[in-house]
Amino acid sequence: MRYALSSASLTQVRNTLSGRPMLAFDIDGTLAPIVAEPWRAHISDELRACLRSLAARTPVAIITGRAVKDARPMLGFSPHYLIGNHGAEGIPGFERQSTAFQRVCGAWLAELSATTDAHGWRAMPGIMLEDKQYSLSFHYRHAARPALARQILEERVARLVPRPDIVHGKRVLNLLAPDAPHKGGALQSLLGHSGCTRAMYVGDDVTDEDVFRMRMPEVLSIRVGRKRKSAAEMYLKNQADVVRLVRRLVAMLDGTRYPARSHAASVSPVAQ
Ligand SMILES: [Mg+2]
Repeated sequence: MRYALSSASLTQVRNTLSGRPMLAFDIDGTLAPIVAEPWRAHISDELRACLRSLAARTPVAIITGRAVKDARPMLGFSPHYLIGNHGAEGIPGFERQSTAFQRVCGAWLAELSATTDAHGWRAMPGIMLEDKQYSLSFHYRHAARPALARQILEERVARLVPRPDIVHGKRVLNLLAPDAPHKGGALQSLLGHSGCTRAMYVGDDVTDEDVFRMRMPEVLSIRVGRKRKSAAEMYLKNQADVVRLVRRLVAMLDGTRYPARSHAASVSPVAQ
């Protein structure tokens, strides 16, 4: 993995921006710091302003594991595409499939709420089931014994009908309907829909590896946090680097050298 803000990498970033690029981002751990209670996650005002500037210049996509209705208020700007539930919600032209995923999740929810489950996972403190309409998420961050919680949940989930596709996150078990697209499939669909010929994708987690692993030649992949086993081409050290990258993207799209002191006002995203 190469550092995305090195001068050699920035040349590659600049190449990605030629033509009509799509710039795509995950939310949690990428634009917003991971927090113990997901509902407290927050994108800084500075980054929101940068993203707003970016979206005024080129198509911006947000691809998140959150539900769309949960993610939208966090953004503070309107991306061209807002894809929720890891790809199961919000892809233009996939509305019928999304409705089918919703039905499957409803059936799982009924099964997991049945009285027969009262002495299983529901009896274990620290497990929370989140209904995201197009997918379900089991959070076990607060379980006293996370490994045991995960084992109990995996055993229970394996008995659901139809059997879900499981996506492991950071102490979260995401249940996706069989055949629901993952983030990589979502990005590919958006490229087709938008007519963009190139893209950059920035993410931090296992679900983002679904994008990185596809190694689409037109997509530059960047992971927040260096990780040896990641399939991403580049990495950013932390979320402060995400802000630096987005500021540079705005400046590059304006054809301005960065930093450009004499034109500081015209390249500052906050000033837009
Ligand atoms: Mg993430």
